[in-house]
Amino acid sequence: MQKLEGKVALVTGGSSGIGLATAKRFVAEGAYVFITGRRQPELDAAVKEIEKNVTGVQSDVSNLEDLDRLFATIEQKQGHLDVIFANAGGGEIAPLGAITEEHFDKTFNTNVKGLLFTVQKALPLLPEGASIILNASTASTVGTPAFSVYSATKAAVRSFARNWTLDLKERKIRVNAISPGVVPTPGYNHLGLSDEQVQEFIDSQAANIPLGRVGTPDEIAKAVVFLASDDSSFVNGIELFVDGGMAQI
Ligand code: NAD
Repeated sequence: MQKLEGKVALVTGGSSGIGLATAKRFVAEGAYVFITGRRQPELDAAVKEIEKNVTGVQSDVSNLEDLDRLFATIEQKQGHLDVIFANAGGGEIAPLGAITEEHFDKTFNTNVKGLLFTVQKALPLLPEGASIILNASTASTVGTPAFSVYSATKAAVRSFARNWTLDLKERKIRVNAISPGVVPTPGYNHLGLSDEQVQEFIDSQAANIPLGRVGTPDEIAKAVVFLASDDSSFVNGIELFVDGGMAQI
């Protein structure tokens, strides 16, 4: 028996990194998956890589009209959604003193506004017992130099999980946050660091992780499958850290 047999799932930002790894796992566990991303060529490549039971819908999570089009497509093709992995997001380095309005707006529009309206606009499609997983980060609770705006967005995401469990209580919809630690993905190329600086960051972080290494996107995907499936039927409102122990010491 597959863990997500017959389920319909949405993975925002499913064309790369953690989202793509999760979309693959969802399909392997029997789900039909919708993935989103902003750029059509990357989305097409991801759909090809996932191979089956997948539809790509080009959309920017921070654009509410794109979200309306996304949910109209899901409604027309499948009629409902059992699982949402609100994953699209990212961040760039900016120390206090060098934070611009543009940096603030871009980070909050994607990670907070986009995630909020993804979930809110999906509500009419969710049956009783649906599972919503929000991609936060260990940055929700620990400090990182020059990463305060990103970290603040992820603290907001963690807070959404606590509050929405209450708002969706009557419908028995579960909402959990997942907090990956250091997981190198294509997203690391957009941090605003050189390749050498990215490698230095990864090496220095690995030294502080109890398991002695960074994680892989598939290790996050396996934990998302747990939260999406009935294996976690009594797990609600949590923040599941998948970080090799980094934020726990
Ligand atoms: P990634 O860059 O490989 O993937 C991000 C995905 O989100 C891409 O598909 C991208 O197209 C999409 N995306 C970004 N902005 C978008 C927008 N406005 N609209 C639609 N799609 C958008 O990065 P990743 O590392 O896989 O990150 C995925 C999520 O995991 C992010 O929310 C990130 O904050 C979170 N996260 C990552 C790590 C890590 O170490 N990789 C750690 C903690 C949390």
